[in-house]
Amino acid sequence: MNLSKPVSKIDGTTRVLGLIGNPVAHTLSPEIHNTLASLCGRNLVYVPFPVEQGALARAVQGAYALHVLGLNVTVPYKRDVLLCLKEIDPLAETVESVNTLVSVPGGYRGYNTDMSGLFRAMTEDGVALQDEEVILLGAGGVGRAVAYLCAMKGAACVFLLNRSEEKAKAVAREVNAKIGRECVLGLSLEGYRTLPAKKYLAIQATSVGMFPRLDEAVIEDPAFYRLLHTGYDLIYRPGQTKFMRQCEQAGARAFNGLKMLVYQGVEAFELWNDTTVTKEQAQEINRMLSQRF
Ligand code: NAP
Repeated sequence: MNLSKPVSKIDGTTRVLGLIGNPVAHTLSPEIHNTLASLCGRNLVYVPFPVEQGALARAVQGAYALHVLGLNVTVPYKRDVLLCLKEIDPLAETVESVNTLVSVPGGYRGYNTDMSGLFRAMTEDGVALQDEEVILLGAGGVGRAVAYLCAMKGAACVFLLNRSEEKAKAVAREVNAKIGRECVLGLSLEGYRTLPAKKYLAIQATSVGMFPRLDEAVIEDPAFYRLLHTGYDLIYRPGQTKFMRQCEQAGARAFNGLKMLVYQGVEAFELWNDTTVTKEQAQEINRMLSQRF
């Protein structure tokens, strides 16, 4: 069976799902969702929809008018789309970032399955956030959301290290104020030198080390990696980053971001179809995608 094949028959009852963003041509989501539709026996088709600047609200309204069952949202609209929704899930509302729209009476309800998917991936990998001392590398779009996730899931503290220290401090202020707990500390990338010598979980949320920059890690100093018991890189291409290699050389466990990618899709698919994707089906998607990299 060719798992990446879309539904074999499109008929009068086929429902449409899609991705809105700009650009969207590079996306793996059609492969994920059309394969899940085959595996779960759902009559669905998932397609990319490029949306020009200024056309977001019309795109969302138009999709609803066309009975599009659900949408994913990618860069640059994950925040702007909040203004186009009927309802917002509490996690997405806190993070102010929506990547999944689910049709409800009168419009769409927005969710953030990037974060619930990352949490599910980490849980399946045996990586806990509760009571952990976390070093989070990167305060960009994803880093900011992960800082919220760590705070909301009970991390003891989060040392947020970023090239632009000001951005790290701004994200820390924002998260602490919204969560009501002083648990995130913004630092420069060198800030690890000031941390107590313990073992930390590090989450790598910068873009350094992504294909084709295979020989780069956001922190090169081996002393940093000796502080870690686990390194969780959100990059999935390549499957093993330099950050992960350095974690392993220092005796820490290392994971890549492929499972996060798979589970953000799985969680969206479950919301759209009011179903549960089995672990085996998720593993099938993981296998299919890992062959791509
Ligand atoms: P973003 O908003 O552009 O943020 C990029 C981050 O990387 C910022 O913290 C930036 O620091 C830092 N950075 C970039 N170049 C750097 C350099 N040369 N040295 C040091 N720091 C540097 O990107 P994003 O949307 O947050 O995505 C971040 C990563 O998450 C990407 O690698 C992406 O592959 C991954 N991701 C994974 C998934 C998944 O499903 N697994 C989903 C989404 C994203 P400054 O703030 O100082 O510029």
